Amino acid sequence: MVAKQGWKFLREPSSLVARIYKEKYFSSVQFSKASLGKAPSLIWRSIWSAREVVLRGTSILGADSKVRCKGESSNDSEKSELWKHIWELEVYGGCKHFLWKAVSNTLPTRANLYKRKIIEDPLCPICQREEENVLHALWSCPAASDVWGEMLSPVQKWRLEEKDFQQLWLRMVKRLTKNQIEITVNIMKRIWGRRNEVLFENKFMDPGKLVQNALIGWEVFLEANKKTCDTVREVSSISKQGWEKPVGNCCKVNFDAALDMVNKKIGLGIIVRNNAGDIMAAVCTPRKLVVSPFLVECHALWRSMEVCRELGFWDIILEGDAKNVIDRVNSATEDESEWGQIITDLKTVLGRCDGWSLNFIHREKNGVAHFLAKMALNLDEERCWIEEGPIQIEQLIVKEKSCITLNT
Ligand SMILES: [Zn+2]
Repeated sequence: MVAKQGWKFLREPSSLVARIYKEKYFSSVQFSKASLGKAPSLIWRSIWSAREVVLRGTSILGADSKVRCKGESSNDSEKSELWKHIWELEVYGGCKHFLWKAVSNTLPTRANLYKRKIIEDPLCPICQREEENVLHALWSCPAASDVWGEMLSPVQKWRLEEKDFQQLWLRMVKRLTKNQIEITVNIMKRIWGRRNEVLFENKFMDPGKLVQNALIGWEVFLEANKKTCDTVREVSSISKQGWEKPVGNCCKVNFDAALDMVNKKIGLGIIVRNNAGDIMAAVCTPRKLVVSPFLVECHALWRSMEVCRELGFWDIILEGDAKNVIDRVNSATEDESEWGQIITDLKTVLGRCDGWSLNFIHREKNGVAHFLAKMALNLDEERCWIEEGPIQIEQLIVKEKSCITLNT
């Protein structure tokens, strides 16, 4: 992940993060020649140490290419790889059979029925423009491409480069994450289902609704199947509540802390998003247990402010669910109670930046930060993602992003 950040520096030197780091750590040289420098931050240190991997760039890019056994023809190995992959997907049985039929070109499309002399017209029953083969029905028919163009579609901006569906599927396997593939298969199955509804019931579902139903169906399946790790379960329960986007051009920083008394650890979680709901940064910080839960929350706020300063976010709303800490930091009167000095320090750092403010929100609206804090409990050292987040929060981010669109 960190190597990917470094890769970004080489490939997109104009990105916000690349510019910030360049100015700070390698203003006069290229990233490849950058030195660690004096008092490097944790984030810079990890990007810097992954530099070697980045500079071997090709090896990262080639990492997902499959190793082929001796004597196996490329075609055979590709095919068995294909089937194996389909059976391993976490989608319901009906989806796998459907996909199998699509990939092996045995789906009863008009073109296939025409070839078997069952019908006389191979034209697509929806658009009536082209013969309805698998690729047309599931991908290139205007009715299908409307669905793929939806915002929550994992293949939203893809163009068609393939001649048949199997090739398209191979590209998906290569380019998408496991979750994205599973969602894509669910959508595909519904596109086929909708095509049958048009044909036999004269009904036509709106593309946005179709995608939403596919997402819900996928989550319900994961939950019902009990194969879900805690992460996904938690993601779907949190996602019923909404995160609220910041107003104007500022970013919102949600932070939270988690406690593990048994292992004597605390976890801090920080997520920075812009007003479109896109991730600007995500941080998971494990720490040794501190004496009071109040202090744990102070740590989370403190680390959030450090991260924002380091990444150059000057216009932000910090949001947390620790009411006692936030009220005390926001209070105008001097804090002379227990931990008063720490509150005063937090006030000072917050007060230094005009564009920073701190708000309390309810737990349900702090889902991603809470999740990251719990994730941090399982880490040995801090992890930081820039302009992306760990895969485990992907679904939740997408959902909260979709809430924004629905609300506006
Ligand atoms: Zn069509």
